[in-house]
Amino acid sequence: MVSTDGRELLLKLRQELVGLDVAVPVLSGGTRRYVNLDNAASTPTFKPVVEKVDEFLEYYSNVHRGTGFKSQIASWVYDEARKVVARFVRANLGTETVIFTKNTTESINKLSRLYPFREDAVVLTTMMEHHSNDLPWRRRAKVVHAGLKPDGSLDVDDYAAKLREHAGRIDLVAVTGAANVSGWVNPIHQLARLAHEAGARIVVDAAQLAPHRPVDMKPHGHPEHIDFLAFSAHKMYAPYGVGALVGDRESLLANEPDSVGGGVVDIVTVETAYWRDLPEREEAGTPDIVGVVALAAAIRLLEAAGWEAIVEHENELTRYALERLERIPGITVYGQRAARGLADRLGVIAFNVAGHPHELVAAILSYEGAIGVRSGCFCAHPYVLCLLGVDEPTANRVRTDILARDRSNVPGAVRASVGIYNDQSDIDALCDCLEMVSRRAYRGRYTVCKETGHYVPEGVTCFDFPRHFTLDPRLPGRG
Ligand code: PMP
Repeated sequence: MVSTDGRELLLKLRQELVGLDVAVPVLSGGTRRYVNLDNAASTPTFKPVVEKVDEFLEYYSNVHRGTGFKSQIASWVYDEARKVVARFVRANLGTETVIFTKNTTESINKLSRLYPFREDAVVLTTMMEHHSNDLPWRRRAKVVHAGLKPDGSLDVDDYAAKLREHAGRIDLVAVTGAANVSGWVNPIHQLARLAHEAGARIVVDAAQLAPHRPVDMKPHGHPEHIDFLAFSAHKMYAPYGVGALVGDRESLLANEPDSVGGGVVDIVTVETAYWRDLPEREEAGTPDIVGVVALAAAIRLLEAAGWEAIVEHENELTRYALERLERIPGITVYGQRAARGLADRLGVIAFNVAGHPHELVAAILSYEGAIGVRSGCFCAHPYVLCLLGVDEPTANRVRTDILARDRSNVPGAVRASVGIYNDQSDIDALCDCLEMVSRRAYRGRYTVCKETGHYVPEGVTCFDFPRHFTLDPRLPGRG
């Protein structure tokens, strides 16, 4: 049961995002309220996060080096934020460390460089990964991909079979906590148990999971312990340029530091250097202190609203969206299609409209509905090709076209994704517009740019962006 307090706080928090009422131009002339359904890419910012950042800036100073009050308080704040992150994912700072990075991609790349792989090591990943949790491993090990079920969810039997097939050689398993295309949530603790039984460790890409579901790394030594976790603040209502890598201290100490320079050393002579302990040893140079403050504030807000209320709200919206999409002629949803018996999935919905290229649908939503979605392959090419059932000859033809700078026929889908602030009116705006697309009742005549694959309505060259925003700051004393 969600407490009344949780529901009330969530209701209030949902109004407190920057930019919810921004109006943008549409093809019919005039402007419309922008409907953001692109949260899987990045979320808008919590207003209390902006306030916290402004408050902190009064005290801003570099960390860990100065003796002035501001240096000391900034250092204290920075270290407190680590504890906030550790508590958020139930990590134990005795055995685990929290390293602040730029984003999930940097966290996973860093882990891939630091991890003490054996010779001939194998990394087991899955066919549903974002490239950020696949490509870095290919540089360090042989990568094997666990397959999918016909609905696009992970085939856990195949995962277990691959663990057996490569028994004794798999050092690390790299899985996503939730898929950024279909929204499927993976059973990470079951996967962790199987990985540990096979003598492997597990890293979970929590870029999509952490903003939408509670994460519990469980204690070190627990069979279902998550050894490493990566996520990004820009998907958690705090887009100030920070990510985190949380994980096992011992393995992160096994190699030389990933990046060297100021901040990572205890002693330097002209011949040698003595590295500091974690986490400083992995945070070369001045960190993004402001970003870290923002991340900690966003975490506090999510915790205050409570996961039960958040999950309940997002599930309701997802169910509503799937119900409405089911009734629109020609729509194919990838992954779980039906609203009935909603499985564990996020409000990330990938779909296509029959007879309409995905890029065209996304363009109509933008130019005529002021709706922000994403379209394409979502940095998960192998997964999208599987979901769409693209055969190998077609995929090869498209690859040849792309290399010849022709993206006009790239297969893909449209993706709508919800955040905690979205409501039914946002889903209605999306579905009303899609009904119009399905009836071919849209206003614009769109042409595709071969090189980018983007569709633009005739008569529109470019939005007048400087009318909305320029980089010129207020000049002091000039009003
Ligand atoms: N993994 C997943 C599942 C994602 O959705 C994303 C972002 N689209 C990433 C990794 C990469 O995140 P970032 O761009 O913040 O590094």
